[in-house]
Amino acid sequence: MRELLLVRYGEIFLKGLNRPVFLKALVKRVKQAVAPLGGTVWLHDGRIFVSDAEDMDECIRRVTKVFGVHSVCPAVEMDKDSFDAICDQAVRMTEGLSGTFKVVARRSDKRYPLDSPAINSEMGGRILRVNKALSVDVKNPEHVMNVEIRDKAYLYVKVVPAVGGMPVGTNGRATLLLSGGIDSPVAGWMIAKRGVQISAVHFHSYPYTSDRAKEKVLDLARILSESCCGVRVHVVPFTRIQMEIHEKCPEEYTTLIMRRFMMRIAERVAKLEHAEALITGESIGQVASQTMAALGTTDGVVSMPVFRPVIGFDKSEIVDVARKIGTFETSSLPYEDCCTVFTPRHPATNPKMEKILEGESKLDMEGLIEEAMAGIEIVRC
Ligand code: ATP
Ligand code: MG
Repeated sequence: MRELLLVRYGEIFLKGLNRPVFLKALVKRVKQAVAPLGGTVWLHDGRIFVSDAEDMDECIRRVTKVFGVHSVCPAVEMDKDSFDAICDQAVRMTEGLSGTFKVVARRSDKRYPLDSPAINSEMGGRILRVNKALSVDVKNPEHVMNVEIRDKAYLYVKVVPAVGGMPVGTNGRATLLLSGGIDSPVAGWMIAKRGVQISAVHFHSYPYTSDRAKEKVLDLARILSESCCGVRVHVVPFTRIQMEIHEKCPEEYTTLIMRRFMMRIAERVAKLEHAEALITGESIGQVASQTMAALGTTDGVVSMPVFRPVIGFDKSEIVDVARKIGTFETSSLPYEDCCTVFTPRHPATNPKMEKILEGESKLDMEGLIEEAMAGIEIVRC
């Protein structure tokens, strides 16, 4: 007999030809997650198992963060020869539980002498005899004693919900515009959850923004990295561009022109990263640069799709996700962002394209972009 974790994934993705690709990717991600704990991960009979990790609680915490995992069950694996021994184990595993329960047996070994209904009633009866605090409810039980009869017997009661989604790497790559705020880490996490490997671009306006502001962004990338399986951050020197805009463009358009630079540079970085889309943390109407008209003018400078997964979220909804994924505290640290340094007093909410183009015509666009690209520092988080 041994204790292990049974890792469950969403069946929905497993129907078609994608099944082996999905499973291979998921096993790889689970292995990465438990490697620091010395655990062993294997795939057997369509199931993923983990055993021998140094710290099982930490192991569960890590595996439940892996995209593609829907739940994790601490289980016991034992020989199936003695049904008595299996029932004794089930009794031990339901000790201390109270309320309603049922036994759910699944028998993939059809030669096993007892069929599933027989296992359910026999085992249920034995549990009831020992634990007087339990009663049976087959429709809506509080606890389920699961028994799977395969080449071995597997028993589990506890099901720890995990993050869901799809394994990172099964759905291409995208590049996240990562600021130090609350929204952009949430946006990156939401896209990564769908199996997308993300990289990040951060625009840094040293000395107007400090090294601590940059460290904060790298810390956010490190938090994301736990679920997103490594995030390469491209730190772009942005001061020169901001100064030029500030000096030469109409004040109410400086934010939009700056954001158009960000998108252009991010698209170039994305191409270097073999990414096919950009991600931002924008939400309609949150600030002047996020009105529909403003979003249109920033989209207009790139040919890649721009994903804005929090576009319809209220701030409080974004905060809820940020808390759940563990970025909220770091995002709330009070370091300045490059956007706040040169904020115009009255930003254009209904921008005129001619004005933007007129402003941009005063700048050496290509020269500034190339200079910024040449100064990129890449940090692996
Ligand atoms: P966040 O909380 O994500 O910082 P925000 O509410 O501060 O968003 P803005 O500052 O307008 O809103 O930024 C909108 C989006 O532009 C951000 O979600 C992010 O994707 C991108 N962005 C803003 N500043 C930067 C930056 N310094 N580096 C990289 N991307 C940025
Ligand atoms: Mg911001």
